[in-house]
Formats: sequence, structure tokens, C-alpha cells
Amino acid sequence: MSVYLAVFIVLSYLIWIKCLYYRHRRTLVKSLKHVMKVSSSRDTACADVRALVVTAHPDDECMFFAPTVIRLVQLNASVHLLCLSEGNYYKQGAQRKQELLNSCAVLGIPESRITIIDHKKLPDDPKAEWSVSLVSSIIVKHLRVHSFNMVLTFDGRGVSGHGNHTALHKAVSHLASTGQVPNDCCLLSLVTVGLLRKYTTFLELPLSWLLPSCLCCVIGSQGYRQAKDAMFCHRSQLLWFRYLYIAFSRYMFINTFQIIPQGPKNLKIY
Ligand SMILES: [Zn+2]
Repeated sequence: MSVYLAVFIVLSYLIWIKCLYYRHRRTLVKSLKHVMKVSSSRDTACADVRALVVTAHPDDECMFFAPTVIRLVQLNASVHLLCLSEGNYYKQGAQRKQELLNSCAVLGIPESRITIIDHKKLPDDPKAEWSVSLVSSIIVKHLRVHSFNMVLTFDGRGVSGHGNHTALHKAVSHLASTGQVPNDCCLLSLVTVGLLRKYTTFLELPLSWLLPSCLCCVIGSQGYRQAKDAMFCHRSQLLWFRYLYIAFSRYMFINTFQIIPQGPKNLKIY
């Protein structure tokens, strides 16, 4: 009897997840319009999205942002990537750069929309403190040249706590608080969750959908295969624990974002 009950509970749980997934697919466009404050027709809203994903290292784009990139590309949004380093910690910069291009091709970002910064003051090193003014000046320059209306980056905990990730959040928050971001551009930070939630995807999915967030991007089995293929492009990084990450991490399936609040525009600081 208890076996039947267990099977019933598991099946009910799977059906519930499936229902939530299909509900999410319908509500993503609505959430996008909401964060971008767009009230136009559905197709126009998505095609008008010009999103910039700001990362610190080659592999961040698929390791942490794959569900978002895949969903935005599916919705015909224009997705660009700005990576602030070549990932040269082990002197593999050239190889990692190529791996990044390959990974982005799998995710649906063409090479023409990828910018990789190689700056001696921005080393791939968790102990290096990246200058907020330098990083924010690179980002704002990129924003103005390409007229992005959405920026996605790490939150203050940087998912893995890497100092280079948190530096990006500091820089984008600095731009937001000093009013340097164009009026029509929304800033979103990727929510960091605790270790338990990070690696219990099966239980985490409904929790992420039910907890409040400004934007939630989730992928199904086909999207997951795409994210996994992108991860496999980063051959130089495929150590044993990466396989565990690919199998169990929530960031391979779901991304949730919060809005980075913006201050008054063109604030002068003396
Ligand atoms: Zn990273």
C-alpha cells in the first residue's frame, strides 16, 4: 500500500511541475513586458528586447545564465554578451576565448554580438579587486553604443561568491544609483540561492516559481540539452565536479532575477 502511495505522490508531483512549467511559458512574456514597462503587442515586446548579459569569465554565460539566454533567443530577442575577462587564471585565455565563442553559438548568440574584454587591471582572479569605476565605464560605454534596453548580471553574492562576479554587480549598481543608465533600460540581477537549493533542482523548481521574483526563465528538456552542450564547449573547465554541476545545479534549468533599483538620472557627484 505504501509503495502505491509513494508512486502516487511522485506522479502527482511530476504532473504539478509540468503544469507549473507550461504556466510559466505563458507568463514569461508578461513578466518581460512588466520589467521593461512595455504595453505593446506580444510579438513587438519580445522582438524589441535588446538584452546585454554581463559576465566575468568564459563559461559564466552557460553555467549561470543559460536558461535566460535560451528563452530570450527563443522569443526572438536580440541577446548580446559582454565578458569582462578572457578567463586567464591558468594562462588558458586564448583557448577559453574560443570555447566561449563555441558555447555562445550553441546558445544562439552569434560572434558579432560577443565582446570579450582583455584588460590587465581586470584579471581572472577571485582575490583581485576590480575597480568599480573601470568596470562601470566599460559597461556604460557598451550600453550607449548598442542602445540596450535590458542588462542582466550577477547579484551581490555572485552565485558562487567569486569576487569578479560581485564586482560586476557593484559596477552596475553604481551606474544605477548615479543615474547613468539610459531611461528605457532595465537592470536585472541573477538571484543567488543557498547551497541546498542550488543543488536540489528537482525540489527547487516549484519553489523558484512560487517565490516572488521579477523575471523567471525556465527551460524544458530540449533547452537543458542545449545548455549542457554549451557547457561541454568549455573543455578546459570540464573537471569531475562540473559533471555534478551539470546534472544537479538549478542554474542549468532556471534563472530568477530581481530589479536593480535606479536613482535619479544624470546625478552629479562632487
Ligand atoms: Zn565566473
